[in-house]
Amino acid sequence: MLFMILKVPILYNTATQKKEPLEPLREGEVLIYCCGPTVYARAHIGNLRTYIFEDLLCRTLRFLGYQVRHVMNITDIGHLSEDNEEDKIVRSARQQGTTAEIIAERYTNLFFEDADHLNIARPTIVCKATDHVDDMINLIQRLEKRGLAYQMGGNVYFDTARFPHYGALARLDLEKQRAGTRVAIDTNKHSEHDFVLWFTRSKFEKQAMRWESPWGIGYPGWHIECSAMSMRWLGEQFDIHCGGIDHVPVHHTNEIAQSEGATGKPWVRYWLHGEFLLMNREKMAKSEGGTIILPSLVKEGFDPLDYRYFCLGAHYKSQLHWSKEAMHAARRARQKLHIHTQQLLQTCPTTPSTQPLSSTAAQYYENGINALADDLNSPQLLAQVWMICKDTKLPPSEQLRLILLFDRVLGLSLSAKSNAKEMDEERAAIEALIVQREHARARRDWAAADAIRLQLTERNIVLEDGKEGTTWRRAHPADVPLAAQ
Ligand code: AMP
Ligand code: ZN
Repeated sequence: MLFMILKVPILYNTATQKKEPLEPLREGEVLIYCCGPTVYARAHIGNLRTYIFEDLLCRTLRFLGYQVRHVMNITDIGHLSEDNEEDKIVRSARQQGTTAEIIAERYTNLFFEDADHLNIARPTIVCKATDHVDDMINLIQRLEKRGLAYQMGGNVYFDTARFPHYGALARLDLEKQRAGTRVAIDTNKHSEHDFVLWFTRSKFEKQAMRWESPWGIGYPGWHIECSAMSMRWLGEQFDIHCGGIDHVPVHHTNEIAQSEGATGKPWVRYWLHGEFLLMNREKMAKSEGGTIILPSLVKEGFDPLDYRYFCLGAHYKSQLHWSKEAMHAARRARQKLHIHTQQLLQTCPTTPSTQPLSSTAAQYYENGINALADDLNSPQLLAQVWMICKDTKLPPSEQLRLILLFDRVLGLSLSAKSNAKEMDEERAAIEALIVQREHARARRDWAAADAIRLQLTERNIVLEDGKEGTTWRRAHPADVPLAAQ
């Protein structure tokens, strides 16, 4: 098979702390594993930022010509609550008076609902932890055979002292950490870094979700699921593993120990981590208090793709500060881009894609590809797209062609009449009216333009005319009464 790779991307690898050119194990194909959601509550927009980054990665690789096999797990067992007192899903089920299965199904569905609204492409394979408990047991047995696991107090633990590179990913200074620690929380452990592979006789003995195992009835620790499921669906070695930056010191460190400990081989070549969404200078997190979910943004009149635009405006490796003002700016920019694309679609015939680009357009094309290939530089790609929109010397058909091309990676649905599925018709109608009003203003038909504004005002839609075009929002109570406008 002949692979046409437009450009080999360079990606920042947490393992080497350097940007490195991507060299997949199989030519032209990239195998990616991303840690998926723990489905005990609705994902907040901080979590969703990480999935937008992973979607950007997969879209970029596909755009550059690679085949991508993207596997994502669903953690529906084994993730303990922050106080270490209970499984997160079991606790959520208890609090909501239902079963763990119902909780897991409910929040899995809601996760994909949010992901769909954000144009996050579905992974090639989605796998649930509870469907892979046998794989986890097999992996733990392999670790036992290689002398890397021990039983204590009924639980099975990974013996970190017997895995020489433990902590290398996070550059953990184990000696320093040991010296600084006064109390070991779990007295069963040989070392405080050891972690549970399988729980049997522990304080959670009676919890609802339990499986037979060679060590007695119990359930898996959290980390083992990702080692077991990635091996099941991608093989014992694969190219890229992703997740949020908080996974580096514990979860991914432990995944490496388990996987390389079991196979005796190097496991993952590139580790990519997305930075946090911050709120009030802290990581947005349930435990920190105060999170925002996507439906709350929609209730306030934002389109989910405004949030996608907001995220793409920052590099995935930079912290991103949440603010309403920044979201409003993202909305204005996305709408302008959308309306501009809609106008281009109406006014110019689509150029056959076989026609060569002019030298100016070809330069933009190259710049866009270079931005993406340089560690997924989405802010730089957006800047290029804006330059394309503002370049009055560029023929509209070429503008359109480039915008639509790059939207395959941006995922902003710029060619769709409207973005959010449930509001499709309404949004399409509003944006079509705005385009008509632009045309009326262009022919100086002020009466027609005013009539359109009035029509929108009656629908509680406020138009905001700026230097670079018109955007819209829903009226809110603080607005001057609409009838008085
Ligand atoms: P969880 O469902 O808690 O396992 O988290 C799902 C993903 O969201 C993980 O990859 C986390 O690293 C990531 N994550 C959690 N909080 C944030 C945040 N504030 N900003 C960005 N990513 C986050
Ligand atoms: Zn994981």
